[in-house]
Amino acid sequence: LIRKSLQTALQLKELFRHQTEMLMKRPNDTKSILDHFKRLSEPLENSFRFDLETLLNILTKGDLEEIKELNKIAQTMIYKSQNPKDCAKAKKLHCSVIHKTCGFGCMMHDYGSCMFVAVGEGRSMQYDLNQQTTYPGLGSTFKYASDTCVNRTNFAQAIHWKPLFGNLTTIGTQEVVTFNITGPFTSHPLFRPGTVPDKILPRIQRVHADPKVWWTGHVISYFLRLQKSALADYESFKKKIRFNHPIVGIHVRRTDKHTEAPPLALERYMDHVIRWFDRYEMRHPGDKVIRRVYLATDEPEVIKEANTKYPSYTFVTAPRKSSGNPQNRSSSAALAGILYDILALKDSDFIVVTLSSNVGRTIYELRQTLPMDPTFSIANLDDSYNYWGEIGHKKVATMDHKPPPSAMCNNTQGREYFAHMRKWTCEIELRVGDDLQVMFFMEHGYLIGGYNRRTHLHGLFPAHKVKEVLIPAPYNTY
Ligand code: GDP
Repeated sequence: LIRKSLQTALQLKELFRHQTEMLMKRPNDTKSILDHFKRLSEPLENSFRFDLETLLNILTKGDLEEIKELNKIAQTMIYKSQNPKDCAKAKKLHCSVIHKTCGFGCMMHDYGSCMFVAVGEGRSMQYDLNQQTTYPGLGSTFKYASDTCVNRTNFAQAIHWKPLFGNLTTIGTQEVVTFNITGPFTSHPLFRPGTVPDKILPRIQRVHADPKVWWTGHVISYFLRLQKSALADYESFKKKIRFNHPIVGIHVRRTDKHTEAPPLALERYMDHVIRWFDRYEMRHPGDKVIRRVYLATDEPEVIKEANTKYPSYTFVTAPRKSSGNPQNRSSSAALAGILYDILALKDSDFIVVTLSSNVGRTIYELRQTLPMDPTFSIANLDDSYNYWGEIGHKKVATMDHKPPPSAMCNNTQGREYFAHMRKWTCEIELRVGDDLQVMFFMEHGYLIGGYNRRTHLHGLFPAHKVKEVLIPAPYNTY
C-alpha cells in the first residue's frame, strides 16, 4: 500500500503538470481541459485516500484500546473533579452565562468555558440551565455536573472573579467563586479551552492526531451528558427515522450565519458524501449499499433541494416542526430538533460540516468520546477547529514559505479584525520554527488571519506548512 501510494502521488503530480501545460497551450479550451482533468483526478485521488485509510486502519488498530482507556480516564477525571466527598467543605464555582444573543452551540460552549475552570481548579460547578429561556427544557435534558454537590452554598457570599485580571493564587483560596461568562473572551489564565492535561498529554499524543480537540471534546461531552429519559427519547427517534449504518451526516448551516461565514452550496457537501460511499463500496465489494445521509440544517429548503438533486440517496432528517430557522428557535421542539441533529451526526460513520458553526464544532467535540481517533472521519469545509476564548492559537512553522513579491503583505495590512479578515489575500513569509499566532479562518487550504511574531506581519499562509503548539495545563488526574 505504501508503494502504491507513492506511485499514485507521482501520477497525480504528472496529471497536474500535463493539465497545466494544456491550459497554457490551449487557453480557449479551458472547459474541456478541466472536465477531462476532473474525470481523471477524482477517482485517482479517491483511491489514494482509500489506500491511505486502509493503511491507517492497519497501523492504528493496536491504538484503539489505548484510546478507549484514555477516554475513560478523561471522563473519570472530570467526574471526580465535580463530585467531592464532602460538599459542605468543597470549593465551588458558580457559573452564570449571560451572553445574550447565543444559539444552542454557542451557549453550551460558554458553559464549557466555565467547566474547564471548574475541572482545572477542582471546584464543583454550580449552575441552573433552566435560567436559559431560549431553549426551554435544558435542565431536564442534561445531567447535572455533580451527583454529590448541588447548589449547597450561599451564593450571596460568593467572591466575584474577574478572570481577565484575576490572580490565580488568590482565586485558589476562596471557597466560593462566581464566574460570569459575558462573552467569548471570558476565560481563565490557566484552565481554558485549548489546553490539554499535562500528565496524559504524552499518551494521547501517541494515538490521536489532535489532542487539543480530544480534551475539549471530553469536557463538552461531560457537560452534555443526557438524562436517562432524554437518551431514551433520542434512541426511539433514531429507530423511527431508520437511522441505520452506513450513514454519513451533513450539517448545512444557512439562515442567519451568512454574516460570519459564507454559505456553501449543497454540492460541496455531497461531493464528500459521494466519495465516502464510493470508498465504502470499495471496502465492501458485493454489498448492496443504501446511500443514507442524515441531513441536519436550519433551512428546510435544503431538504427539498437534496431530494430533488440526489434521488439515489436516502435523506433522513429530524421532524420539521423542530426547524432551527431563526424565527422558531425558542421552544422545547426546537431544543429536541437541534439536539437530535447534533447527536445523529455524532453517531454517523462520517460527517461533513463547517467548523465555523458552533453546531459543527459541538458535533466534532462529541465525537471525541468515540473509541477511535475521529480526526479522519470528518470533512470540514471551512475554518479550522477553534473555541472562542481558546488559549494561544499558537502554531509553529514546519516549512519555509516564500510568496512571490507580488503576493506579499506589507506591514500595514492585517490590523482589522474578524469581519474583514476573510477578504485578505496577501501572504506572509515563513521560516521553519517561526512562532505564529493564528486566527481560525481557513479557505482553500490557506489559514487566514495569521501573525508572524518574528516579522510582525499579518496575512495568509498555507495551512500544511504549520503545526499546532499544544498547551499543557496541570489538571488533576486523581
Ligand atoms: P452557529 O450560529 O452556527 O455558530 O451555532 P449556534 O448553535 O450558536 O446557533 C445556531 C442555532 O441555529 C442553533 O442553536 C439552532 O437553534 C439553529 N440551527 C443551526 N443549525 C441547525 C440544524 O442543523 N438543525 C436545527 N434543528 N437547528 C439548527
